[in-house]
This record gives sequence, structure tokens and C-alpha cells, in this order.
Amino acid sequence: MPRFLRAGYDGMMPKVSAFLLGLLLFLIPAVPTTIDVESQTGMQRERVYKLAKTLNFKKQPMVDYWKILILSPENWEDSILQTKVNTKTAYTNLFLHETFLNSSALPYMNDWDIRHLLGHEAGHLICNCASEDTANRIADSLMNKRD
Ligand SMILES: [Zn+2]
Repeated sequence: MPRFLRAGYDGMMPKVSAFLLGLLLFLIPAVPTTIDVESQTGMQRERVYKLAKTLNFKKQPMVDYWKILILSPENWEDSILQTKVNTKTAYTNLFLHETFLNSSALPYMNDWDIRHLLGHEAGHLICNCASEDTANRIADSLMNKRD
């Protein structure tokens, strides 16, 4: 490499690095979790999406992408038989970042119940663990809008 080119390149690097670092630091806290909700009924999809968006992830770094699938009664029964999880409302696949909700349970839940349920499932993703106590503790923190 000609000397002047190398000098120019070397001279630029700290500036470029500083710029990229600044850009990175600026971008990291600004990237929100992408929440995707799938459902056979638009009303349930809207309700769950709106409530999921009210969770406060500022102090609890959430996974980048969270998919919430609201299953029809038949699909819910099938999935429970396959996974053998012991729940009537929801469970989360920690590897795929997917939460499955029982559509039959939602009409009996008020908005607080659903927020807590979503916060609890998000809690499993945040701790990347199956602990119910930890998931509940994180859910409480996610539901606090002031933090
Ligand atoms: Zn749980």
C-alpha cells in the first residue's frame, strides 16, 4: 500500500471507529422488541398486541423478537398433548421465542390478567429459565410503567 494511502487510512480509522461506536451506543437502547401476534380472530390479536406493547422493557432487556400465537381451541388441545405442558392459559418456547396462548381462556381474563400473563411469559424469555417465581417477579417489574 502506498505510504500516503496507509497514512490516510490510519488517520481516518479513529474517527470512523468513534463514529460507529457512537452510532452503536445510540442505536442499542433505541431498538425495541419486535412483537408479532398471530390469531384467527382480529379482535383477540388487537387486544393482546396492545397489552403486550404496554409492558415496560426498559429495565429488563427483552429478546429482540417475540412471537405470540393465540391458538384456536383445537390447536391449543393439540399443542398441549404434544408438549405435555401443564397449563390452561399459556406457555413459552424459550428456544424459538414463541408464546402460545389459549384463545378459549382470553374471554375470561381482564386486561390486568392478560398483561400479567404476557409479562410472566416474557419473564421466562428474559431470565431464559423455567422458574415460575422469577417469571412472576419480572412480570411485576414489566407491569410497572414508571420504571
Ligand atoms: Zn410460567
